[in-house]
Amino acid sequence: MLEFDIVPARRRPAEERAALLADPGFGRVFTDHMITIKFGEDGWHDARLIPFGPLSLSPATAALHYSQELFEGLKAYALPSGEIGLFRPEANARRLNATAERLAMPALPEELFLKAVWTLVEADRDWVPSGEGQSLYIRPFMIATDPFLGVRPSSEYLFAVIASPSGAYFSGGAKPVTVWISQDYSRAAPGGTGHVKAAANYAVSLRAQAQAQDAGCDQTVFLDAVEQRWIEESGSMNLFFVYENSHLVTPPLNGSILPGVTRDSVIRLARHNGWTVEERPYSVDEWRADAESGALRETFACGTGVVITAIGRARSRDGEFTIAGAAEGPVTASIRDTLVGIQRGRLEDPFGWSVR
Ligand code: PMP
Repeated sequence: MLEFDIVPARRRPAEERAALLADPGFGRVFTDHMITIKFGEDGWHDARLIPFGPLSLSPATAALHYSQELFEGLKAYALPSGEIGLFRPEANARRLNATAERLAMPALPEELFLKAVWTLVEADRDWVPSGEGQSLYIRPFMIATDPFLGVRPSSEYLFAVIASPSGAYFSGGAKPVTVWISQDYSRAAPGGTGHVKAAANYAVSLRAQAQAQDAGCDQTVFLDAVEQRWIEESGSMNLFFVYENSHLVTPPLNGSILPGVTRDSVIRLARHNGWTVEERPYSVDEWRADAESGALRETFACGTGVVITAIGRARSRDGEFTIAGAAEGPVTASIRDTLVGIQRGRLEDPFGWSVR
């Protein structure tokens, strides 16, 4: 295992930190340090904890031209015991390597990923906020660094981890959101990269997200690229549809949907509760018809950022429909409270998901 060289940062004074943590928003405040590890001919080397700051890159850096870059996202929580908890970090380590493989990038040993994350969290533990709904969002990423314009896998890479104290994901709080069903733009196609966390996936989703916002919606729902009929996922969240007797339906991992860590946790938690979960193709027509007939009880979206949010309305060029009066339902609320309780160390964790 690589040892990390430590170059301590000038720590910002406690008053400055407290002011930033009072209302951190999302993704715009960063902690004092970052992790960098390089990859070259001899494998991973030069693991360092250094002051957060600009990277120096050649303008020819491969990642800037051909998007050979990936990222991950996970959260650290201040637990009531005074410890710091990470939620299922090994799942992010595994998904990072699935992405790396798809993008012809080198695998990063899982232990090295975990050590990198913990080294940063420990150095910057004063930046883990403890307010309601707050956490330290951790952003590991990897970029191709060859200064070369040929289109081929890079031979050198940089893996880095930065961290950002964050508040609630939607500024509106826990109220149900309205989604835009994107009929003009696809996010992922069969054989593509939708099932991994390639940075390029997010570039191609931005135009649809802008359209969603223009239509007064909070988030986009993407359909399958072939038939434009099957619900896939939202821009950064997986989707669940709740029927009578706590029966949950969610689109299957068909190769173009991201296997969310939260999605997997919801499925396990629901089954642990004795509820039923069906992973099967689910069409927009079925969604609309069942919302209109009342057979559909709830719809929610889940992801690391938001955890769980109810979807109250869906809008598209064809009009709008409301799900169960656009109020948060009991299944959504129960799953959210349990997951948040486990993440924040307030509830028993029968799954061993919260790592301290
Ligand atoms: N889908 C997409 C496209 C995402 O970017 C994310 C966020 N990583 C998710 C789903 C939810 O995944 P997770 O629960 O691992 O955050």
